[in-house]
Amino acid sequence: MKRLICILLTLVMAFTIVGCEQELSQLNALFTEEYQQIAYDGMLHVYYLDVGQADSIFILLPNGENMLIDAGTKESGEDIVNVLGSLGVTDIDYLIGTHPHADHIGGMQQVVEDFDIGKIYMPKVSTNTKTYKNLLQAIKDKRYTITTAKAGVNILSEDNITATIVAPNSNEYDDLNNYSAVIKLTYGMTSFVFTGDAEKLSEDEIRTNIKCDVLKVGHHGSSTSTSKNFLKKTSPTYAVISCGADNDYGHPHNEVIQRLYKSGISTYRTDLNGTIEAISNGYTITFNSER
Ligand SMILES: [Zn+2]
Repeated sequence: MKRLICILLTLVMAFTIVGCEQELSQLNALFTEEYQQIAYDGMLHVYYLDVGQADSIFILLPNGENMLIDAGTKESGEDIVNVLGSLGVTDIDYLIGTHPHADHIGGMQQVVEDFDIGKIYMPKVSTNTKTYKNLLQAIKDKRYTITTAKAGVNILSEDNITATIVAPNSNEYDDLNNYSAVIKLTYGMTSFVFTGDAEKLSEDEIRTNIKCDVLKVGHHGSSTSTSKNFLKKTSPTYAVISCGADNDYGHPHNEVIQRLYKSGISTYRTDLNGTIEAISNGYTITFNSER
């Protein structure tokens, strides 16, 4: 927990001299103060949290609202809650569970229990896992409802900020991964695509314009995803891969790394770079990372 907090503090303070040894109470004060400045600095901040072999992306929107896409594994739930709490976050405006696999919704039960949530988006598919059932129960207990995540759903549409769900485009898939909510977020001239674990089949079904500057690579860099065609359609300048060091799946697969490299795409990885922050002022994007 302390590690993640230190990581975020480091990013939030833009690598200033604040050390990581401070007591949590001091950190809270600093976070709260910094968060309030950042929340209204008119910039888009996207934090690809280092949650090991899992996904969790916290987004601070230029309008002061926030969004959490996935919440890592059950083990990460507490870390995420603590980090966001330390940032001064009390509400989550938009919570998206891309698909009901444990490395995406594992920590979400705790997030739902500990924060006030605005809107919750999840694809229309269920599983029999305890993790999924517990999450549904937590949502029900707080009398929240789930909005179906599917292509065409607008999460947010303001002057120069939009967040749109561009997949899934079908109602039935053999693989849960393909139910992944894929989101395109634009701010001014800049854009981001978040893919969950969508595989080639779903990638191919996306018909809307998904050209972007930053692509969160699908399925932790697995060769099931990020097809040549999809890279052509997204044509990103930057890619971010969320995966754990020495994971059992061999993610990211070499094939995908090569494809990104050959396309001249600058790639960040949570296993190598730790938590990664992308900041957009609407015109250009800059990156900070833990290492
Ligand atoms: Zn996954």
